[in-house]
Amino acid sequence: MKCEICGKEVTETYTCKLCGRRVCKEDFDKGSGICEICKETLCALCKVRLAIAICNECGRLVCEDCSIKVGVGYLCKDCAKEVDKRRKRVKTVSNSRL
Ligand SMILES: [Zn+2]
Ligand SMILES: [Zn+2]
Ligand SMILES: [Zn+2]
Ligand SMILES: [Zn+2]
Repeated sequence: MKCEICGKEVTETYTCKLCGRRVCKEDFDKGSGICEICKETLCALCKVRLAIAICNECGRLVCEDCSIKVGVGYLCKDCAKEVDKRRKRVKTVSNSRL
């Protein structure tokens, strides 16, 4: 059998539970059951789903569940909260000035 990542001929392959690739021991993470490629593209927040975007604020990879679409880009849940807080604070400040 051939590893679908490095192309090495191996006797035993492991199947990635995310992408279904059959990979060698070196390209497989037994703990999480996923291949190296998926590991690299895993959401930095939940570490369960594949990332679909990069957060505009912190630059971390985020999945559909952990990201919020803002305009043309994305924010991770953490940054979205921060941005929201910032926005509210700005509002309060301008209100008190009135
Ligand atoms: Zn391999
Ligand atoms: Zn994979
Ligand atoms: Zn996630
Ligand atoms: Zn972020």
